[in-house]
Amino acid sequence: MPTGSALQWSRCTQRARDWLERAAPCRLPRESAWRFGGALAVKATKLLCLLALLGLSACKGSCFSGPRDCYDERTGQQPVLTHDAIDQALDTFESVTFESLPVEYTRYSRSGGEFASALANRTYRVVRGHDIFRYVVADVRVDRVLAKDRYYERNVASLDDDMPQYWLIDKRLLYKILDLKNALTEAGYDDSAIWIRDVHRHPLANQQRGGASKSRHIRGEAVDIVVRDVNRDRFENEVDKRIVLELLETEIIGDEGGIGRYPGTMVVHFDVRGYRARWDRR
Ligand SMILES: [Zn+2]
Repeated sequence: MPTGSALQWSRCTQRARDWLERAAPCRLPRESAWRFGGALAVKATKLLCLLALLGLSACKGSCFSGPRDCYDERTGQQPVLTHDAIDQALDTFESVTFESLPVEYTRYSRSGGEFASALANRTYRVVRGHDIFRYVVADVRVDRVLAKDRYYERNVASLDDDMPQYWLIDKRLLYKILDLKNALTEAGYDDSAIWIRDVHRHPLANQQRGGASKSRHIRGEAVDIVVRDVNRDRFENEVDKRIVLELLETEIIGDEGGIGRYPGTMVVHFDVRGYRARWDRR
């Protein structure tokens, strides 16, 4: 986020300037400096410079380790490791019903018309500014599961302005993502080897992705993951994918939702539609 970093830099330099201003009484008035001699004035100047440098490097430590680390340091957040913690993480976001969404958003995302009945009364979370770095399931941050749309771009272009983005998520989906990660760990596999690619897609984002017209992503009920080297054998192949599909089939989704298997790719879709569905082709 170049703009965010530039802002942070200018704030840090401003803070250093403020600090120097406050330290001004330590500077000797000219007459006194003459009285105490040039050497003392030089020492005082050196000391001020040193302190300013220390101030700047301390500033750098907190602001320039990257906006994500900065957010973690500031909020002290921890990965979200239980269903209750998922509920709590979701509750920290401001929420708004479908009916109360700004008209501009509904129009832009094409959420009205044929989709209005499916989205009626749904609760959207409002994600603003630096809160895109908040963990929502395990160590997955909310920016990973948002539609990468105009609202997203506007927010990340200037995080300090707290521009809103609207996120629709079924918390049962987050539970399933956590359950899958836990099941992988329990079976001795690498739970970080499933990469979350897509979660909520409003109708426009769904259309741009080439999703099915009634895709569960539109309701925030679906996730597409990319399977990587789950069994840590240094290959990303069908064996890894089979491990994930097997867990989804037998433990995680079963008859409660849909699984898109997409043979020949490393992508898997699963959702929490509430009844069994299976398909291979995208
Ligand atoms: Zn999908």
